[in-house]
Amino acid sequence: MQIDHQGGVAVVTLDESSVEAQHLVELVSRLDADTAVMAVVLVGMTVGDGDLATDEPSLEPAIAALSAARKPWVAAVHGGASGIGLQLILGCGYRLAGPTARFDLPEVGLGVIPGAGGTQRLPRIIGVEAAIGVVAENVTLGAARAAELGLVTLVTGDLLTEAVAFAERVAAQPLPVARALEPIDLGVWQAAEARIAAKSKGMAAPLLALGAVRLGVEQGLDAGLAHERATYLRLNGRQEAAALRYLVRAERAALHPADLRAVVPRRFRSAAVIGGGTMGSGIVAALRNAGLPVVMVERDTDSLARGMQTLAGMFAAAERRGLLTSEAAAERLTGVTPLVGYAGLGDCDLVIEAVFEDLAVKQAVFGELAKVCRADAILATNTSYLDPSQIAAGLPGPERFIGLHFFSPAQVMKLMEIVPVPETAPDVLAAGFALAGELGKISVRSGICDGFIGNRILRRYRGEAEAMLAEGVGYAEIDAAMRGFGYAMGPFEMQDLAGLDISYMTRQAARARGEVVPETPGDLLVRAGRKGQKTGGGWYDYAPGERKARPSAEAARLIAPLVGAQVGLAADQITARLISAMAAEGRAILAEGIAENAAAIDLVEVHGYGFPRRLGGPMFMTARQTQVKGPD
Ligand code: NAD
Repeated sequence: MQIDHQGGVAVVTLDESSVEAQHLVELVSRLDADTAVMAVVLVGMTVGDGDLATDEPSLEPAIAALSAARKPWVAAVHGGASGIGLQLILGCGYRLAGPTARFDLPEVGLGVIPGAGGTQRLPRIIGVEAAIGVVAENVTLGAARAAELGLVTLVTGDLLTEAVAFAERVAAQPLPVARALEPIDLGVWQAAEARIAAKSKGMAAPLLALGAVRLGVEQGLDAGLAHERATYLRLNGRQEAAALRYLVRAERAALHPADLRAVVPRRFRSAAVIGGGTMGSGIVAALRNAGLPVVMVERDTDSLARGMQTLAGMFAAAERRGLLTSEAAAERLTGVTPLVGYAGLGDCDLVIEAVFEDLAVKQAVFGELAKVCRADAILATNTSYLDPSQIAAGLPGPERFIGLHFFSPAQVMKLMEIVPVPETAPDVLAAGFALAGELGKISVRSGICDGFIGNRILRRYRGEAEAMLAEGVGYAEIDAAMRGFGYAMGPFEMQDLAGLDISYMTRQAARARGEVVPETPGDLLVRAGRKGQKTGGGWYDYAPGERKARPSAEAARLIAPLVGAQVGLAADQITARLISAMAAEGRAILAEGIAENAAAIDLVEVHGYGFPRRLGGPMFMTARQTQVKGPD
């Protein structure tokens, strides 16, 4: 902590790494007593973003001292204030910020609630309804909105100069008084509770954060602060907070792998996607959402028209949901150049292939690309199961080749597996991570194996589910157990959604090659025409146009020869078996060096496959031998 004097204004610069409550408490009373000081400017608490909300209540006495200071304290905020940083400046009488500053309280995403007065002081500054959004719903306030709500006064000139001038002005005025809380209708609390419960996916913190705001509004600041602290401490000791901090740490680290820190990513300003099917069109949308101009290449005009139509549908849906204005939606679409053939790709920096999952087709595509693309253009494949090294075999300049495995729908799903081949150049690998960052995705490096990290674990997970089925556990019970655990759907419902025919064809191909693949219940369903939702039935029945799974007597009859006599298995035993199977595959993946660490595997499961975030992932859970169970 450093103190300079500019006339009657003391400028206190905090060294963020070591804000000590006791020092700040003493400083407030020392400056209060110093007759040469009229006002104080506090700088240095830009963004507390290295902070994982690990010990917030310890700073509360300092914030309380600030808010009780007799001299005006003016916080001057550069980039913004987050978490403890924001709570600290809530103790100051005035806050000044530049036009790019941002303010948020990320605590509920870390499994706790703000623990240094945030749930109490923010509503008294910006009003209860706006504060609920920031405290409990992860709303970030931009500078303009923060100013509108009375959180900050905006300054456009040099922040420190303006802050000192501001402090001189307010020194002569009475201290600001906290605004009285407006009475809140019961309906506001109820609506907020319903909204937050619907979004929080079984996480405890968001509703408890709302509860803390409400208690403070109804019972006063002191009761609110005591309640906030007790709630913070209770949550801070829970497994959920540990799981969420672990994931947030892993997510931050994922964008910047240590071994690539010194590598400048190969630049990409324009992109092309080969194939406009399910994945290709989604990848085009993701690239456009990040502002890159994109060429969509298809094999003929009909397929191209279909691809462009799919794409237009995606932007129209985003517009209907209020995520895009109609101008923005139109601009996203006009930024795509449709193309049959490869003649227009000579200038492209990055090409992502998403054609049929067929080695010969993919090799032919890269053969064409090698002829037309610049020698330094990055060439990527979105294959799910093929060996990228084989796809790149014979490619001139294999150092520019890489696997970029997107998940479906590609414009939505956060995960991207990055799969370098042995020849991939470091700047191409770094470009993969840079791309993931630009697309707002979580990137995980995977070594080469069948299915990479995610689909390999998925196969094991499904295998275990089918083993239980063969033992006589009902598939509806298995699905219900996994939903209770926190997945949006269970393994059999997931197959109905994706279609049972793809894995059926894979098994048939293996059989045709002479491999021994025992008959599965899925084979029986597909042969009877039950391929999933798209045929009106798979493991379940579906009414036309509906996605609601209904029990199917026909499916039960069809698979009966391959399933054992019905046995009951408790939901927590079902989930324990499935999670253990995933973790066992994860350990094998680690042992083979396919994933760099356990956290990488957990990121894949959470961001690619819907593993409940509040539980951290299969590796996190099993490493801590937590009891595998559903929400409390
Ligand atoms: P898809 O069948 O929906 O689309 C493939 C598209 O490629 C078709 O539109 C086809 O016309 C086009 N195409 C075929 N040959 C072409 C060529 N020579 N030149 C230009 N276009 C050509 O398939 P998809 O589901 O989008 O899968 C594409 C790739 O993405 C596959 O490698 C698949 O394994 C992978 N992938 C799929 C998913 C998924 O969930 N569907 C997820 C991740 C990765």
